[in-house]
Amino acid sequence: MGSTVFPGKLADRFHQLYLDHGVTLVPGRLAKGALVGADQRPGVLLDDGSEYFAGVVVAGLSAKPVLDLASEAGLEVNRGVVVDAHLKTSDPDIWAAGDIAEYPDVILGRTRIEHVDHAQNSGATAGRSMAGSDETYDHTPYFWSDAFELGWEAIGRLDARLDTEVVELGEGRDVVYYLDEQSRPVGVLLLGVWDSVDKARKVLADAPTDREKLRSRIV
Ligand SMILES: Cc1cc2nc3c(=O)[nH]c(=O)nc-3n(C[C@H](O)[C@H](O)[C@H](O)COP(=O)(O)OP(=O)(O)OC[C@H]3O[C@@H](n4cnc5c(N)ncnc54)[C@H](O)[C@@H]3O)c2cc1C
Repeated sequence: MGSTVFPGKLADRFHQLYLDHGVTLVPGRLAKGALVGADQRPGVLLDDGSEYFAGVVVAGLSAKPVLDLASEAGLEVNRGVVVDAHLKTSDPDIWAAGDIAEYPDVILGRTRIEHVDHAQNSGATAGRSMAGSDETYDHTPYFWSDAFELGWEAIGRLDARLDTEVVELGEGRDVVYYLDEQSRPVGVLLLGVWDSVDKARKVLADAPTDREKLRSRIV
């Protein structure tokens, strides 16, 4: 579990965390269908023919923005509704913020982000912009999440296919830098490391390529 986001050792730790909490993991299988057991309990059929029943079935299927309404209204759409730095769409009377907006991030470049921090901050900027402010949206959002006792905050691109630099701070606290082809950090994961999002944001803005110096940026 977590192997698309976390580098190898941390993905193993993440996986083990679930096992340690008594969760049965069935990796590498696809869900083929929903089932209802003889006792009316919901269940799931996997592609190897195995069946699992539980009190509740929750499907985690990822999400895709629905852009039909926006494109039918004549707005420019791409991965989301395209907005400028003021979060204004191609129609001067319409703004977009949050998950649906594809916006020019000051550090990450043109992107679409599905995080609470982004929804709140871009929503506030869009509101002020609609009310006449000429401010731009300069907040590069971070992401937080928790799994059992493990918590993390992160910013930028977290993709385990990228080269990574892992700094172990001890007591299960780790900083992971995700590097692009030029060895520039494009994402920072703060695992059990708190109050460091601003430092991580600065690392991405500075984009240092010296790995030794990078390792000491967040301690
Ligand atoms: C299961 C799950 C877990 C998540 N966990 C995290 C997390 O741990 N950390 C984190 O940072 N983020 C997390 N997120 C992402 C976060 O919830 C979203 O980024 C955030 O809620 C986006 O806010 P939003 O206002 O842009 O969109 P939404 O919250 O989706 O609000 C859009 C609203 O528009 C309404 N709407 C849609 N179409 C129409 C229409 N045609 N007319 C009128 N209303 C319409 C919808 O009903 C909805 O109420 C999670 C999301 C999910 C689904």
